[in-house]
Amino acid sequence: MKIPFGGGARPDFVLWNHVAREHVFINALAAAGFAYFLGWRAGLAFWSAGVLIDFDHYIDFVYRTRAKFWGFREMFFFHTQIFERLYEKDFLCMEIFHTVEFMAGLTWLAVVIDAPVVWAALAGAFFHHVLDFFHLARRGAWRKRAFSFLEYLIRVHRMKRLGIDGCRHYQKAIEALSGMAKGQSA
Ligand SMILES: [Zn+2]
Repeated sequence: MKIPFGGGARPDFVLWNHVAREHVFINALAAAGFAYFLGWRAGLAFWSAGVLIDFDHYIDFVYRTRAKFWGFREMFFFHTQIFERLYEKDFLCMEIFHTVEFMAGLTWLAVVIDAPVVWAALAGAFFHHVLDFFHLARRGAWRKRAFSFLEYLIRVHRMKRLGIDGCRHYQKAIEALSGMAKGQSA
């Protein structure tokens, strides 16, 4: 069953709740467990990685808006706009730190450095993906995010062949963002 935007809550609240409840709070509980058994450095590394991995949303926001916007508030507004289109049939997104390729690179780095803090950070990153997966799965939308660069390219290519513009949703979000910015300056 789909839960549209978390049981009727406004999409911006759904995103806030997801970040605050899952990536800050639940993540902190898991990190406390890490800290208890492996020391505070491991706990801190676990928690930080679990939060910082979402930084790709900021990169995505700056990239998609062609660096016209930089503010945190604008970023949140932009991603809320994207999230509102989650249930549209041709919706597809990808976040670079949320891909198997990136995680493979991170795992390789952890093997090379082989330090407890780095392993803890890697675990934090994986834990983040588990939380994200449940966040999307609860809304019947886990297929809306491509989990790999390759998967993304293939799906975008397939959509293009069917005459579907995969960037449409981003364009709509940018238009809404520009409208908001204009409204504020007027
Ligand atoms: Zn995430």
